[in-house]
Amino acid sequence: MQGFPIVISAPSGAGKSTICRKLLERRRDLAYSISCTTRRPRPGEKNGRQYHFMNREEFKHAVHKGDFLEWAVVHDEYYGTPRRFIQETMEKGKNPLLAIDVQGALALRRKLPQVTLIFVAPPSLRVLRERLVARRDEEASIEKRLARACEEMEEAGHYDYLVVNDDLEKAVSSIDAVITAEGLRTKRRTPPKFFLKPESPCSKNA
Ligand code: ADP
Ligand code: 5GP
Repeated sequence: MQGFPIVISAPSGAGKSTICRKLLERRRDLAYSISCTTRRPRPGEKNGRQYHFMNREEFKHAVHKGDFLEWAVVHDEYYGTPRRFIQETMEKGKNPLLAIDVQGALALRRKLPQVTLIFVAPPSLRVLRERLVARRDEEASIEKRLARACEEMEEAGHYDYLVVNDDLEKAVSSIDAVITAEGLRTKRRTPPKFFLKPESPCSKNA
C-alpha cells in the first residue's frame, strides 16, 4: 500500500518542529521530509538534519531542474520540498511528514490530493512571542514572524484538522490519532485477502 503525505503547518514558533520530532519518536511509519532553504542555520542546526542549506544560486538551479514538488518564499527566504524524497517514501509504503508553510500546503494538495493537512495554532499571540524569544530568535525576525502569524491563522480553514499546541503532549497525541485514523480510511485501503479467495463465504460462488 502506498503511503500518504502529512503536512503540518503553523506560524513560526508555534511548535511544529518540536511536534514533528515527538511524532517521529512515536511512529515508525513516518519519514521526515528535509526541505531545502536559503536561510542561514540557527545555532545548533546542522546541514542535512533540519534543512539542506544552500545559497540562492543553488536553489534557483534546483528549481530549474524540477527538483521541488513545491517551493515558496517565506520571510524573504526560499524554501522547497524535495520531489524525489516524497515519491520514494510513498512508494516504500511510508508516510512523508512535512513541516511547510500555508502556500506549500495548498500547492501540495493540488498536486497530491491524498495529502492530509494539519494546522497547529499557538494558544495566543502572547504565548507565540514568548516561544520565539525563548528560541533566541532575533528581535527583527520575531516582529516579522508575528505579523505573518496573523495572516497564516486566517488560512487555517483550508486545512483538514486544527490542533492548538498548548499542552505539548496533548497536541502530539491528537495528531498521532489523526494519522492513525487517516491511515484507516477506506479509500486508502484494499480489503484483506481472505475476502477475495473463491472459497470465502463472501465470494459469490461460495
Ligand atoms: P516552529 O517549528 O513551529 O517554528 P518550535 O518547535 O521551534 O516551533 O518551537 C518554538 C519554541 O517553543 C521552542 O523553544 C519549543 O521548545 C517551544 N515549545 C513548543 N511547543 C511548546 C509547548 N506546547 N509549550 C511550551 N513550549 C513549547
Ligand atoms: P523556519 O525558518 O522557521 O524553519 O521556517 C519558516 C517557514 O518556512 C515555516 O512556516 C516552515 O514551515 C516553512 N517551510 C519550511 N520548509 C518549507 C518548504 O519546503 N516549503 C514551504 N512552502 N515552506 C517551508
